[in-house]
Amino acid sequence: MAIIGGGITGLTAAFYLKRAGVPVTLYESSPRVGGVIQSLRQDGYLAEFGPNTLLETSPKIGQLVRDAGLSARRLDPDPAASARYVVRYQRPIPMPATQLGFFTTELFSLRAKLALLREPFRPARRDGVEESIAQFVQRRLGQEFLDQAIDALVAGIYAGDPHKLSLQHAFPKLAELEARYGSMIKGQILGARERQRTGEVAKDRAPKFSFDEGLQVLTDTLGQTLGDSLRLNTAVTQLTRPGAAWNLDLQTPNGTAQATHDTVVYAGTAYRLAELKVAAPAPLDLSAFSEIRYPPVASVVLGFRRSDVTHPCHGFGMLIPGVEGFNILGAIFSSALFPNRAPAGHLTLTIYVGGERQPELAALPPEKLYPLVTADLRRLLGVRGEPTFAHSVFWPRAIPQYNVGYGRFRARMTELEQQAPGLLLAGSYRDGVSLSDSIVSGGKVAERINAAVA
Ligand SMILES: Cc1cc2nc3c(=O)[nH]c(=O)nc-3n(C[C@H](O)[C@H](O)[C@H](O)COP(=O)(O)OP(=O)(O)OC[C@H]3O[C@@H](n4cnc5c(N)ncnc54)[C@H](O)[C@@H]3O)c2cc1C
Repeated sequence: MAIIGGGITGLTAAFYLKRAGVPVTLYESSPRVGGVIQSLRQDGYLAEFGPNTLLETSPKIGQLVRDAGLSARRLDPDPAASARYVVRYQRPIPMPATQLGFFTTELFSLRAKLALLREPFRPARRDGVEESIAQFVQRRLGQEFLDQAIDALVAGIYAGDPHKLSLQHAFPKLAELEARYGSMIKGQILGARERQRTGEVAKDRAPKFSFDEGLQVLTDTLGQTLGDSLRLNTAVTQLTRPGAAWNLDLQTPNGTAQATHDTVVYAGTAYRLAELKVAAPAPLDLSAFSEIRYPPVASVVLGFRRSDVTHPCHGFGMLIPGVEGFNILGAIFSSALFPNRAPAGHLTLTIYVGGERQPELAALPPEKLYPLVTADLRRLLGVRGEPTFAHSVFWPRAIPQYNVGYGRFRARMTELEQQAPGLLLAGSYRDGVSLSDSIVSGGKVAERINAAVA
């Protein structure tokens, strides 16, 4: 059994297969496991350059933490740090946490508040036509919700464009609420019992957590359990299936090599799947996957003296709608969530730049990027003085965009599995872009294989 890709998806699949007694080899082209999960401990700071938190949307998440023996290292956020801010009128305003708060907040106009009250009475669209999340929100809640809330939320989750992201593929739960209950609000209320039965938790309510030394604790631990079944610095470049087994062409620092496996799981990225040569036995065309967009994002982690920041920064962080005209997409108040992210008397902010909104900014070198970021932080959080810690990572292709029309890529993935028996596809390009989606995806592909070999 071969797993291609040592991100969280491939590691989860390999971990569960090995536990079930299936011999497994994991090939990872880079020198480390974790994929986009990258934590750095330096000078008393802990920086996360990929995901910051893991959402417990499914019982499978907590199960993996327990199975990996990491319960004691799990770190739950400070409960006092639950506030979320959205920028309006050029300043962060707390998102209302209660119904009463919604009616008194200055984040939305009276007109927008009334539009929300009318949402349960708006006719549901049932013609099956795919639409963007922007079209959906305009139809059910109006332009102000799109511009001031959803645009910011979409930047926070996908670094994406609400006019391009598909409601059905990027926000399937919302699409389902309208289809089943005729309204998002009615669905939130009436769907609660169904969620209780399945143990699934909506993303906006799911508990979030990390580990004492960051999310990389999870991927490092899963990697260690693989022992010498883990092949780092080994890219799989070609898969051929002349008979009953797959031949893998490998590129290693010492040159090329070959391996043979009965089953192969591809747990990499869509753009690298497009580069893979696959013949089963005739060559298969995977070029369509190169059309899946992955916009660039820069993750900037800055530390400041607490006394140099006017805003309390108590809470999860702030989201910034495009209409507000800032350089940054948003910021996480990392050391408010997890106090061990900064030395005493200091705080850590994790800021994202680029995405579909301003892709050109993500690629700026640090000497140009940091001044842009700190200029925004000065205006939004009253930051003074120079950062005491500054590190960044540029992701040329960060997060797959489930844009309108994504169904054709998913259909091609299913078709590929049929054309190439014994090749299975899993990961954030197929089963949802969050870390928890990737864990569920990795666990599910292991279950499919276990069921087939049982
Ligand atoms: C900046 C950023 C912030 C994020 N924030 C959050 C967050 O706060 N919360 C959240 O839930 N999610 C977040 N996400 C999303 C989440 O991190 C990802 O969905 C998840 O980590 C994807 O894991 P994966 O294993 O599917 O893919 P990846 O992590 O991309 O791993 C794929 C691996 O496959 C390897 N590979 C590919 N092709 C080959 C090949 N041919 N041969 C060998 N190896 C190969 C690659 O080198 C890579 O290591 C964020 C993502 C980014 C980029």
